[in-house]
Amino acid sequence: MSASKQKNTFFDELSNKLDSLREQGLYKFERVIASRQGPEVTCDDGRQLINLCANNYLGLSGDEATVQAAIAATEEFGYGLSSVRFICGTQTVHKQLERAISDFLGMEDTILYAAAFDANGGVFEPLFDEQDAIISDALNHASIIDGIRLCKAARYRYANNDMDDLEVQLQAAADKRHRIIVTDGVFSMDGTIAQLDQICDLADKYDALVMIDECHASGFMGATGRGTHEHHSVMGRIDIITGTLGKALGGAMGGFTAARKEVIDTLRQKSRPYLFSNTLAPSIAGASLSVLQRLSSSTELRDKLHANTAFFRSEIAALGFTIKPGTHPVVPVMLFDAPIAQKFAARMYELGVLVTGFFYPVVPMGQARVRVQLSAAHTTEQLKTALAAFAQVGRELNLIKYAQ
Ligand SMILES: *Cc1c(COP(=O)(O)O)cnc(C)c1O
Repeated sequence: MSASKQKNTFFDELSNKLDSLREQGLYKFERVIASRQGPEVTCDDGRQLINLCANNYLGLSGDEATVQAAIAATEEFGYGLSSVRFICGTQTVHKQLERAISDFLGMEDTILYAAAFDANGGVFEPLFDEQDAIISDALNHASIIDGIRLCKAARYRYANNDMDDLEVQLQAAADKRHRIIVTDGVFSMDGTIAQLDQICDLADKYDALVMIDECHASGFMGATGRGTHEHHSVMGRIDIITGTLGKALGGAMGGFTAARKEVIDTLRQKSRPYLFSNTLAPSIAGASLSVLQRLSSSTELRDKLHANTAFFRSEIAALGFTIKPGTHPVVPVMLFDAPIAQKFAARMYELGVLVTGFFYPVVPMGQARVRVQLSAAHTTEQLKTALAAFAQVGRELNLIKYAQ
């Protein structure tokens, strides 16, 4: 067989695998948005839709003040640095943002990354080795799982949010030099909030460190939006926090790790995604800084988000839908059946509401759902329109009986 024929086989195999994904209904299509991100978006087919599936919790992604802060930072600091941080890629705005994140989270120091995926990918390997144990929630984000894979420490897994199993794993890891418990602060598929008070108590009992990934919490969980550690009154008891600038805190991109000085110093010396990847664009650093200043001076956006969440949760339940109970702006509307979840989302699109159906393997078999995410930018009017669409589609698909 000639070399070119072998190459053809390679491409044919890829095509076949893609076809098989399409046949199984597992192929992911991307909707193309032709406007700013926001509570309403315009798609490339010209349709205007109420958007219930962005991580735009505080409504800052398309927010004018955030855009202007990004423009101002670009004017002052330029478009980019063409450098990693330690060569010639650190500007005053990066240092100010690191200081502001530390203060906001109540941590000693912070290091920036191009994404939270990189923060999680680069946090374990420099800090832990084969003598140590990483005790990880079974539903932790893919980037945590990848980060742990890159590190030589022993890995222990506990069932999602299961404190008894966590204790069993802590006992199993008792002979290791250091132990660290790692959990998402909030699990994004279910809106489950990690039980950080109990986790911190167990960490004390078994002499373990605690790390939380706050991607679905920073900016709005807790009374002043500091995160899940504030929500559970354990600020000061968390050793490492990772998070994103790409969700509530403005929505562009970028990530961070916050911890004690010696941890952050070690990451600056050794963390590979930090050492070998470009610095965060000045526009993002400047806009993120303005977001943190805004959130520190007022809880208005956070309060509006929680009011919208409470309203939507109670109204959707009153329509007769089954939701995962809770208080988080992620509201899983359970439909259980994968084809129904797909049909539901498609019909909602026709009615002008953007929601996404999730089904196996993203969620467990038989747990298909439409995941709604609320934003501070949603108006009550928009939420009522979306709820009316839920009622209509629910009736059409015979999922609810009593909706008026
Ligand atoms: C979104 C997310 C990430 C990745 O964040 P990026 O900044 O987009 O890379 C990591 N962890 C969790 C829990 C997330 O939800």
